Amino acid sequence: MIEKTLSIIKPDGVRKNIIGEVIKRFEANGLKVAAAKMKHLSLKEAQGFYAVHSARPFFSSLCEFMTSGPVLLMVLKGEGAIAKNRELMGATDPAKAAPGTIRKDFADSIESNIAHGSDAPETAAFEIGYFFSGLEIFE
Ligand code: ADP
Ligand code: MG
Repeated sequence: MIEKTLSIIKPDGVRKNIIGEVIKRFEANGLKVAAAKMKHLSLKEAQGFYAVHSARPFFSSLCEFMTSGPVLLMVLKGEGAIAKNRELMGATDPAKAAPGTIRKDFADSIESNIAHGSDAPETAAFEIGYFFSGLEIFE
């Protein structure tokens, strides 16, 4: 099934100057960039985005990290895009991520892990709508 998913290159990925490297991996694996914009999230925007994690011990640190610099927000589109994006990113903790994945290759820690990807159709719909209007997504 052709799906859309939200991808974020987090502030550490932007700082490391690997935007192109990450997008290259998406494109090489059949995902298309359907929307993209850079944004420096406010604390409120980060907290709203990660609201499902608000009870977690790492929530405030995570939101601080996500507002530490600009991010690249993208909508990726393609066959099985949600699972494909997560497969390319690898496990949340780079120490546990499979060889050749984005997080294994570039991430410094379980928090500073380079990329975000929606984990299910419902979260993809919420997350895409959180950052993009329909007019900003190219079919
Ligand atoms: P994923 O991004 O792989 O879907 P989660 O949804 O579980 O992972 O967590 C969201 C984000 O919160 C992670 O990508 C990471 O930046 C951060 N995070 C997750 N677990 C931890 C942790 N134990 N300590 C610090 N930060 C964490
Ligand atoms: Mg998640």
